[in-house]
Amino acid sequence: MDADILERARQITKEIRLCNHCLGRLFLEVDGKNNEERGQKIREALKQKEPNECELCGGFFKQVDNIAWKAARELGKCDARTIIVTSSVPKAVLEKEEEIWKKYGVKQSESIKKDINRSVGKRMADIGPWRYDPEAPEARIIVDLTGNVQVEITPIYITATLRSDTPSKSETRSIIKTAVEAIFGARDVRIRSKEWKGGTKIVIEVIDPSHRHVNVKILERALEEMAGRKIIEIIGTTSAEGARKFLGGEKWIR
Ligand SMILES: [Zn+2]
Repeated sequence: MDADILERARQITKEIRLCNHCLGRLFLEVDGKNNEERGQKIREALKQKEPNECELCGGFFKQVDNIAWKAARELGKCDARTIIVTSSVPKAVLEKEEEIWKKYGVKQSESIKKDINRSVGKRMADIGPWRYDPEAPEARIIVDLTGNVQVEITPIYITATLRSDTPSKSETRSIIKTAVEAIFGARDVRIRSKEWKGGTKIVIEVIDPSHRHVNVKILERALEEMAGRKIIEIIGTTSAEGARKFLGGEKWIR
């Protein structure tokens, strides 16, 4: 291994207790399939043992497997297939990391946050059917250094138009709410609407659905049965932004 790398690593490990994972992250120029392996290689070259504590992650990277399983249990309650992982890391830790970069002339590194998000996301993809998708995640997993895990399920937005001869608005809303809660196993449903010359456009926001991969035509048929006639034309599903645009880009009023 490069003498300069070893010398800097010796200096760093003399002054700061770091786990192999956090040590490896400070030396991305070392060959290795991940930070853990890079850290192990450096540690071996220095003939050192890994300390029990880590002043950066506080032992987080030893818990990645546990954390991924915790998130998997939560995700099991909904059928989200695409995920994103975000983390909340205390400012003091981020500052400490930057200090290390500056003080020891670290050349190639990445932030602990990025490392956490990738490590948990990768483990999730190994243990379950989840795919990392930062563009349109169906669930967001939020972790912190103490091992807390929160799962936020992305709402489903269904766009539709109401027929002009629908019964009263409040009745229609209540039928839609009942049907959507049942079909999607939703915790709550919000309906927003906008009048236009062709009738009424609506967006149905399905909150915390336990089944999300449902053909929306099933909803259309259920509503027809409940109302005794066709009251709604469902267009499809979209993102929050797509829903906002569908209603003319105006501020949403509940
Ligand atoms: Zn660490």
